[in-house]
Amino acid sequence: MGGTKILSAALNTEDGIIARVKQPSKRGASQVDYIDILKDIIYKTIDAANLAEVDISAVSLGVPGSVNPFTGVIGLAPNLEIKNFKIKEKLEAVLPFPVLIENDVNLGALGIKYFGAGKKAKDMLVVFVGTGIGAGLIFDGKLFRGANYCAGEIGHMKVKQDGPLCGCGQRGCFEAIASRPAIVKNIKKDLRAGKKSIISKIIQPGQPIKSKALAYAVKHNDKVVTSHINNACITIGRVLASVTNMLNLDLIILGGGVIEALDSYMLPLIKEAFNKEVLKDSAKGLKIKATKLKDDAALFGGIPLVEEFLNIKL
Ligand SMILES: [Zn+2]
Repeated sequence: MGGTKILSAALNTEDGIIARVKQPSKRGASQVDYIDILKDIIYKTIDAANLAEVDISAVSLGVPGSVNPFTGVIGLAPNLEIKNFKIKEKLEAVLPFPVLIENDVNLGALGIKYFGAGKKAKDMLVVFVGTGIGAGLIFDGKLFRGANYCAGEIGHMKVKQDGPLCGCGQRGCFEAIASRPAIVKNIKKDLRAGKKSIISKIIQPGQPIKSKALAYAVKHNDKVVTSHINNACITIGRVLASVTNMLNLDLIILGGGVIEALDSYMLPLIKEAFNKEVLKDSAKGLKIKATKLKDDAALFGGIPLVEEFLNIKL
């Protein structure tokens, strides 16, 4: 479930994804609407995969927000405008399969651990840089959720005193400095100050500046855009160094819209900043890579989630 789209897939461990259905989200949908919308997309996916109800072991749902995977309640999902939603109970009342829910970033981390670049990793951090910055933690091969299932809020690590205001209400958070909206805000400030950038040629005033536009500008060596991307890379590298010093990880995987569009440019800069600040012993043998799974990471994460909660092997 996302703020702009709902992406659904039928998958198994042998063939991977066998069918996908995507549809735009409905703004302002009520809890009752959501149950109808999800039921509908689930059956569309089963049909698209040429399957029957009996073929389905379970439904895994990724939610952008705070989620209790044990009770199946969504605490708060700001982008979906829903809170205190007993979604597991409500969906199971209208579906003949078990329903499991998990935070979407955690689900992405699980997907990368079991089906992506993290297969061999024991202690891994997955960081998604996009509209916000979120992380999933895998310790000893298992997802680490924390006492209130909120672990991984790396985007709200404080990196700058009196820094820019963050969506959480605090100042100087990591995502208020290095997420796409933060980078774009800095670029717009420069444009308003009269600095020349290719961005003003490719984006009409008032239109959103997406990751692809940033990548286009970087490819054309645009000074304004590269300077702000470079600064974001330094902050990302520094945060990853701090986390590595704390946790002594063996793998860091980067993903999300900004990284997908700019990985070949950003990764070397992130690694450079990381290497300058990390403790040498903590970083020994550690690798930093970009994931290639994109949105599929969270879809694949549904499989280990089902195995964990239903105690079965798929
Ligand atoms: Zn914050």
